[in-house]
Amino acid sequence: VARKRFGQHFLSDESVIDAIVREIDPRPGQSMVEIGPGLAALTQPLVERVGKLAVVELDRDLAERLRRHPQLEVVEADVLKVDFRALADARGAAKLRVVGNLPYNISSPILFHLLQYVDRVADQHFMLQKEVVDRMVAAPATSDYGRLSVMLQWRYAMEDVLFVPPEAFDPPPRVDSAVVRMVPYEQPVAVDEQLLSELVQVSFSQRRKLLRHTLGKWLEQKGHGGRFDLQRRAEEVPVPEYLDLAVAVSRDGAGW
Ligand code: SAM
Repeated sequence: VARKRFGQHFLSDESVIDAIVREIDPRPGQSMVEIGPGLAALTQPLVERVGKLAVVELDRDLAERLRRHPQLEVVEADVLKVDFRALADARGAAKLRVVGNLPYNISSPILFHLLQYVDRVADQHFMLQKEVVDRMVAAPATSDYGRLSVMLQWRYAMEDVLFVPPEAFDPPPRVDSAVVRMVPYEQPVAVDEQLLSELVQVSFSQRRKLLRHTLGKWLEQKGHGGRFDLQRRAEEVPVPEYLDLAVAVSRDGAGW
């Protein structure tokens, strides 16, 4: 029986499982980690291809079953507390491939948790609520464009690779799903994450208003007197402009 509090919706459609595995394209010997393997619907085809797989599962009963599989290294833990740097180091891997059909109730926290380890990640393939994927990959001047888009597009090239309907799961979730591919940029713009996060949060706090009413005050407090065009709404500002502004503000803060 699926546990609701763990967001358990198990993949049951073989053709969808095949399609996801094709998108992931697992190769022998790769260092891969699966988040939330559950009943091993994805785990099985993945481990057959890579040979060895680390899995992070919170549910004690599921973890117990998974431990019977000799090629799996089961980490019984809350993924939000897992140190992926230590996980990579323990495997002698420079970078990990991270995959998973995530528990939707904590998908944003998982995405932000993994952002801390982006330098140790080769790529990520996640099944998420379609609506969340839409927000992740959104372009400026759309209603989906927001904090999630800016913070993630800063570090990853992302692509919505597969639509998955509710019927592919047991029990079916109430929402559509999608698989997103996330590949970290080799040389991202160097920005203080905390500052960028604050800037973006302030900007989108009142999406309907012009930035001079929201960001204007914040920039003043930070002592920034640049020429950033505040006669726009947050959703009209492309990601590179947010990054440039964050860089400029942190320079002001450093007394330059
Ligand atoms: N991968 C399986 C599949 O596709 O059939 C199961 C996916 S189900 C949506 C989410 C899985 O994540 C469940 O197995 C659940 O027990 C596990 N899970 C939920 N919260 C978790 C957490 N905080 N840390 C690790 N695993 C978690």
